[in-house]
Amino acid sequence: MQHLGEGTRRALREALQGAKARIALYALCAELTEGMVREEFAACARQETALAGLWLRLLRAHGAPEAADCLEEAVRAERRQWAEALPEQIRLLRGEGQAALVDRLEKARLVSRAREERLQSLLRAARQGELYDRREPALWTCARCGWAHLSARAPAACPLCGAARSAFRPNP
Ligand SMILES: [Zn+2]
Repeated sequence: MQHLGEGTRRALREALQGAKARIALYALCAELTEGMVREEFAACARQETALAGLWLRLLRAHGAPEAADCLEEAVRAERRQWAEALPEQIRLLRGEGQAALVDRLEKARLVSRAREERLQSLLRAARQGELYDRREPALWTCARCGWAHLSARAPAACPLCGAARSAFRPNP
């Protein structure tokens, strides 16, 4: 792909940020509504997700694996959430004497922190090219049919249902 100038990269980053905000809004609206309104919001969220993926692929000129790019973004977002945004909201609510809400936000903070750890571990595996090819044997289970296979490497295809390698998950 031809080299992207700084102005182009900025425009693509802004398009990506806008799409991300709309995806979040439409996904939330789809959760809160029902019937044909819900279906419309869900369709909007899927369309914006496709566009966000396009902007991200165009920005990704350095050739890093796409999964690692997405995981890096997600790790940064979760870190901001549990380390900066939630503590600030908890501090404000504590000042207002909202003990029950503070308790909920502290639980949400634990969820966010655990999510960052899971994403970090996937990111490490993606960077090392070890998402489906580990150093140690693992019990790979097909998410589609449940077939399990003990090996360092996930099977190329599931011998039972034919699902692709990407259907397999390693048991820790
Ligand atoms: Zn299978």
